[in-house]
This record gives sequence, C-alpha cells and structure tokens, in this order.
Amino acid sequence: MEINNFNAYCDQFDRASHELELEENLAKLLKYPDRELSVELPLIRDDGSLMMLHGYRIQHNNARGPFKGGLRFHPRVDIDEIRALSALMTFKTALVDIPFGGGKGGIQVDPKELSSRELEQLTRKFVRAISPIIGVQTDIPAPDVNTNAQIMAWFMDEYSQTHGYTPGIVTGKPISLGGSRGREAATGYGVSIILREIAKYRGIPLEDATIVIQGLGNVGSWAAQNLHQAGCRVIAVSDHEGGILDPEGIDIPSLLEYKRENGSIHGFAKTKTIDQGTLLCTPCDFLIPAALGGIIHKMNANSLQCKMVVEAANGPTTPTADEILRNKNIPVIPDILANAGGVIASYYEWVQNLQRHYWEEEEVNNKLEKKLVDALYEVIALAHSREELSYRTAAFMLAINRVADAVAIRGRLT
Ligand code: NAD
Repeated sequence: MEINNFNAYCDQFDRASHELELEENLAKLLKYPDRELSVELPLIRDDGSLMMLHGYRIQHNNARGPFKGGLRFHPRVDIDEIRALSALMTFKTALVDIPFGGGKGGIQVDPKELSSRELEQLTRKFVRAISPIIGVQTDIPAPDVNTNAQIMAWFMDEYSQTHGYTPGIVTGKPISLGGSRGREAATGYGVSIILREIAKYRGIPLEDATIVIQGLGNVGSWAAQNLHQAGCRVIAVSDHEGGILDPEGIDIPSLLEYKRENGSIHGFAKTKTIDQGTLLCTPCDFLIPAALGGIIHKMNANSLQCKMVVEAANGPTTPTADEILRNKNIPVIPDILANAGGVIASYYEWVQNLQRHYWEEEEVNNKLEKKLVDALYEVIALAHSREELSYRTAAFMLAINRVADAVAIRGRLT
C-alpha cells in the first residue's frame, strides 16, 4: 500500500473540510481522536506458554452521542489503522444521522491460530482492559473483521459480571442475548440497497447487472445473497485464499452451502480459479471490495474495468487510486455510506436493549432502508450541485457539518 490508513483518512477529511471552508480550529479538533488506549494482553496458551498481544480502543469523537464502532482481530491491526477506522465511524454515524460518535478497537492477532478457549480468554481480557472507558452511554463496541456474535456474547457476559446484566454494552450479539433481528445481515443488506438505488439513479438495469465481490465473509456473503436474489449476476468472488469466476453468474446460495460444508469457496463446481489481481480487474458493472483496506491502489486502479465501485469494506481505496478512478470516470460509493447498514442496525439493537422491547426483522429492515436511501440521495444532491465533487467528498462534507454543529453548540471550542 502506498500510504497508511490514517493518512488516507486525513486526505479525505482535508478535501471535504477545504470544500466546506471549515474554520481552522474546528477542523483541527474534528480531525484527530479524542482518546487512544493501548493495552497489553497476556494470554496463556493451551500448551501453558504465555503470548503477549497488543490491543487498542480509540475514541474519535462523541459530540453527537456515545462512541460507536467495531472490534477487529487481525495480525495487521495497528494503532494507525484503528485511529483511521475510529474517525470513519464518527462521520459514518453522522452521515446516516444516528445519535452516535465514532470509535474502533482491535487486537493484533490471527484468531485462526487460537483455540476457542484461547479466543474466549483473550476477548474477556480485552473487555477487562478497556472497561474503564466503555459503557452503555459512553462507548459501545460491535463486530468487525474476524469477530462475530459469539465474541460479542463473551464480551457482554464479561462486562455484565461487574456491571449487572448489560446487553447494551455491545451490539451484534446473538438474538437470544438481546441481539437484533436483521443485525447479522445488515451491512451486506445495506450494500445491496445502496447498489440498487445508485443503479436506478444512473440507469443501470439491476436485472442481469454483473457483480464482482472481493471478500466473502459476513458483509460480502450477505451482499452476494441479496444481489443474487435481486436478479444480478455475481460473476466472481474471492476470500483470502484467492478467487473463483463464472461469467454466467455463480449460484450464490449453493456456493455458500458449499463454503459451510468445506470451509472454503475453492473447488466449487463450474468455476475457474483466479487470483486477487485478476478478480479486481474483471470487467463488470459493480465491483464490491468487502475485505480489507487499501486494496485498490495506484498500482492496480488503472486496470479496473468496472462501471462503479461500491465500498463495502472500510478504506479499500487509497487517495491516489481515488484520483485515478475519477479520471477514468468510475464513480465510487464511499464506505461511510455503502457499509453504514451495519451501524444503523446496531443503533436499533442498542435502542431495543435500552427499551427491553424487541422488534420484528421487517421493522428493522424498513427503518434501515429509509435511513440509507435518504442519506444516499442527500449525497447525490450535494455531489451534483457542484462541479468536481466526488460522492466521497460530498458524504464527508455532510457528515463533517453535522459533527461540527454539535461540537460548536456544545461549546467544545471554547
Ligand atoms: P469477515 O471477517 O467476516 O470477512 C472478511 C472476508 O475477507 C473473509 O472472507 C476473508 O477470507 C476475506 N479476505 C481477507 N483478506 C483477503 C484478501 N487479501 N483478499 C480477498 N479476501 C480477503 O469480515 P466482515 O465483517 O465481512 O468485514 C469486511 C469488511 O467490511 C471490513 O473492511 C470491515 O471493516 C467492513 N465492515 C464490516 C461491518 C460488519 O458489520 N461486519 C460493518 C461495516 C464495515
């Protein structure tokens, strides 16, 4: 990658604040995180040895509500990445107008190398380590890369040991523990709603539209299912081991069944094996990066052959690649809009936890759809009101304005 994550975010922030002619002190205050906590996590392995791991919780801004953001377990997690992701959360929650700020957490670990007992112990240690700065009205974590409903359940249980039954401390929980109907599928569902609406807006027929998805985890697989159901042809998908291609369209429900049975997408009938580079450059209507950050960069952006990029992952496009795509007339629907379905459903989960009153899935999905579609059309309207404004810059401008308002009204600049 040609630039680190925080620099990439700063570039996006600077462009938007420049367009807004944001007052200098306000821009400085909004750009950087409020608080950064680094923790050392000693983990006793099953063989009795001790492993020391690094974890982080970064709280970017809470002017509009409690800090909110996921928890990532990955060997490449570092403070710079978590810092950038925490800022993206502030502007994502503001853009879709839910009463949260932004935060993010992570542990530098490969969870595939841990047993279930080790993973549970690590999660519980992390909760104890960050518990002084989290709370139902303070900071509410959620799942992200390599974390899931089971990890959220351990998280909630550990916190509840010392604070009493507290389902609202974390979202993305199993439904039996206060999770929301629709939450698990929400991010991918939101990606498919955004794609459907932007296709309608730009006159690309959804029926038979060709889709390429990088990453078939929580977000990618739900997006694939919804788009397949909507009549699109998902022609290529990948995971960390590589990709598969079928120009006629992959049978997504059968592929996901195959993946559940075999633990991998590779070897699925009628598909050809391709590498990550080929996957990203496959001609298609919509390219959906749904894995990690920085995968569309200056070395490959010129070779993309999609009509549009819909960023399901956080930070998949570097600033240089963004510029190259602009010059190639490939619009990008930015992460803070395209993947906001997850945090919207998390907000509804938190509301249900506070009320101890639970909603039907249809209610969650309908409310989520309205929030996303409203935000998309606000972004489109602003982007088309000025020349040379990308969807990303427009989205940041709307979001920065809302956070700036809250900061100023709360008197945080004095
Ligand atoms: P996940 O762990 O469920 O899945 C990640 C997927 O990416 C896996 O299929 C993995 O095999 C694949 N992958 C990893 N490295 C890859 C590589 N180099 N090339 C191709 N595929 C690779 O994670 P997730 O929750 O689906 O998150 C995916 C992205 O979406 C992340 O950027 C995350 O921050 C973002 N996101 C997630 C949520 C959520 O609710 N889970 C919400 C908003 C944004």
